[in-house]
Amino acid sequence: MSNSSLVDYVKISPNKTSPRNHKIDRITIHHMAGNLSVETCGNVFAPSSRQASANYGIDSEGRVGMYVEEKDRSWCSSNKANDHRAVTIEVADDQGGPNWHSSDKAMNKLVKLCVDICKRNGISRLNYTGDTNGNLTMHKWFAATDCPGAYLESKFPWIAEQVNAILSGKSNTSTTSTPTQNPGERAYKENRINYRVHQQSYDWLPHVEDGQVAGITGHTKRIEAIKIDCKMAGVKIHAKGHIQGIGWKDYGIITSDTVIGTTGQERRLEAISLEAEGLPEGMDIYVRYHIEDEGWSDWIKGGILAGTVGLAKRLEAIQIKIQ
Ligand SMILES: [Zn+2]
Repeated sequence: MSNSSLVDYVKISPNKTSPRNHKIDRITIHHMAGNLSVETCGNVFAPSSRQASANYGIDSEGRVGMYVEEKDRSWCSSNKANDHRAVTIEVADDQGGPNWHSSDKAMNKLVKLCVDICKRNGISRLNYTGDTNGNLTMHKWFAATDCPGAYLESKFPWIAEQVNAILSGKSNTSTTSTPTQNPGERAYKENRINYRVHQQSYDWLPHVEDGQVAGITGHTKRIEAIKIDCKMAGVKIHAKGHIQGIGWKDYGIITSDTVIGTTGQERRLEAISLEAEGLPEGMDIYVRYHIEDEGWSDWIKGGILAGTVGLAKRLEAIQIKIQ
């Protein structure tokens, strides 16, 4: 079993089980709950009294530390079985809670490190299922913790998608194997629509695209605003938003900078209505939303109200796609 060539700093922790008893077939991503350099993280895992470690850590500058070699099991996820089969990665937060943001440098290196781990260990793709059935797991599924924090948690689908795009790019160049078909998964290059939400306590969350989840559920936080960027040439989006205390507001044809809703006013965005003009025949815009007390809606074809009006309920997450 090899280690990553991306490592910048090594400080092996005594907190480990050597060797691991299971083949590596998972990755578990954690956050440091602080803006630790790879050296400081190494110091945290150095005393045996700490009883904790991780295989790797990534700091906000995108540097990689190794604290437990891949051949060994780290003491990281509060779950022996998970850690015997997972490579565990701690990522630094460049902002504190409750959002626990990580830098773009750290996120980009995280994708690279995951690709490297997958390639060397024969993992063909990262399958994020939102539970332990997949091979991309998070600490909070095994213990009463917020780890990996709201930001990283919201980025898990993106991480899997980025990693898989790179992994499958490699397989597409092969003339001997048939590319794996993943029904329901869009072709990576056809980016049709991007969007992001401004959520209570979290500020603007990262952009997501084409049906991915924007917003965080389960934290009782309201979406206050949304920005939408349609990537399809010649297609225009007409948006309306229903805002707490204000009612319907018509934004007309929006641009990527249009803020649908409000920020800094503590108002719920309660519903949106989207209409797309100029789409190819047979295509439409679809919205799915997660609302307080009710959970996820079905996909709703564009032009129709997504959310509720007059019920004083908060939108917590949203998905948008064009197909
Ligand atoms: Zn953790």
